[in-house]
Amino acid sequence: MPFTLAIVGRPNVGKSTLFNRLVGKRIALVDDQPGVTRDRREGEGRIFDLVFTVVDTAGLEDVRDSSLEARMRAQTEAAIESADAALFLIDARAGVTPLDAAFAQQLRRGKTPVILGANKAEGRAAEAGLLEAYSLGLGEAIALSAEHGGGIDDLYERLKPLIEERERQAAEDDEEDTVQLAVVGRPNVGKSTLINRLIGEERLLTGPEAGITRDAISVEWRFRERPLRLVDTAGLRRKARVTDKVEKLSAADTARAIDFAHVVVLLLDATAGSAGEVMEKQDLTIARRVVEEGRALVIGLNKWDACEDRQATMQALRDRLERSFPQTKGIPVVTLSAREGTGTTKLLEAVFDIYDLWNTRLPTAALNRWLGEVTSAHPPPAPGGRRIRLKYMTQAKTRPPGFVIFCTNAKELPSSYLRYLENALREDFDLPGTPIRIHLRKGDNPYI
Ligand code: GDP
Repeated sequence: MPFTLAIVGRPNVGKSTLFNRLVGKRIALVDDQPGVTRDRREGEGRIFDLVFTVVDTAGLEDVRDSSLEARMRAQTEAAIESADAALFLIDARAGVTPLDAAFAQQLRRGKTPVILGANKAEGRAAEAGLLEAYSLGLGEAIALSAEHGGGIDDLYERLKPLIEERERQAAEDDEEDTVQLAVVGRPNVGKSTLINRLIGEERLLTGPEAGITRDAISVEWRFRERPLRLVDTAGLRRKARVTDKVEKLSAADTARAIDFAHVVVLLLDATAGSAGEVMEKQDLTIARRVVEEGRALVIGLNKWDACEDRQATMQALRDRLERSFPQTKGIPVVTLSAREGTGTTKLLEAVFDIYDLWNTRLPTAALNRWLGEVTSAHPPPAPGGRRIRLKYMTQAKTRPPGFVIFCTNAKELPSSYLRYLENALREDFDLPGTPIRIHLRKGDNPYI
């Protein structure tokens, strides 16, 4: 989304002239589209190296009825609401009119940054108006001449920092939303093949020919508009040098990948044989580590195309996961063929689904309602005749979801009861597969 500048002001101050000057011939007439009001035009504005969208709120010139001010208010409101900045024009020759003052008041109240422009400022007739403009409480006015191109360089100076600030903000937001993804697994399960598929380019090389170095430590791209970054391809890069294919997956590489990642795809080879071979001890160790580190795990069952007994393989894997991760029910398993490119969309969907769960934030009120229900359905024990009371619950963290329960006698609460709570929480709030943390604290709700 480009930076949007809305030109606002009462009729006849020169909004359209300025619009035309900024946009030139690059006008996209939004009023050609059905359902769009006729009183807004949009175009791509340029001043030197700055490129932005300009919205013109002209068109009200034709309105001469008594509700002009009200209509202008509404129009301005709509324009500045969706804009990153407003350029408020007055007519320097006419000076500040009551309608200008009303506009200024409206703009001062809003959150959108305002640049004040005194137009038609060529010549001496404009001097008084420029001074008067201070009374609007919007700082110094830029002396503009839309007709002759005057003051555009000053406008540039005012716009530039605003645009830069927004770009910085957008980059930050993007960074915050970027899913850090790691693909781990034993040699030859198809990691490189998968990554090539995912990024849609042969940026990483697969196959038996070794000795290929890869420059990228991380690769970024988007899936359905959402940014993701593949972290730690260094482990993959190293692979090129590894001649012994049965060597153990480097624990350090994997640990590093897990550290950096939000979501870890553990890739398995569906053609490896029985369940114990598809998911080996090594794989279980990695999976455990992912969960213990509080990352979100997705199991990718690769080479599905070449799997001989699909049903048995899947069933065996599910059994193994259930037995090994009784506390993390619902770890997603996605079957795929990295080589044929089937199932990779499903895999990314699973990655984003689990990422969203991992980011879940549950409202405190709902949690406490829930706590009341689960503790009355199955009351905590009463060691020594004194029942442990769970008094208050809140979510203290996300990524992964972390909860705090304040209770009496926290040390005495058996871990089986904590598991009961965790299972119920997962079930009732629909949080499959993501790690969940519940911490107990002594005492009452500290926030009351
Ligand atoms: P990595 O060591 O995990 O990076 O594995 P590679 O991506 O280098 O793949 C190892 C071998 O498995 C290569 O010969 C690939 O062609 C093959 N392979 C990868 N994905 C698939 C798949 O989905 N199906 C089949 N049948 N073979 C695959």
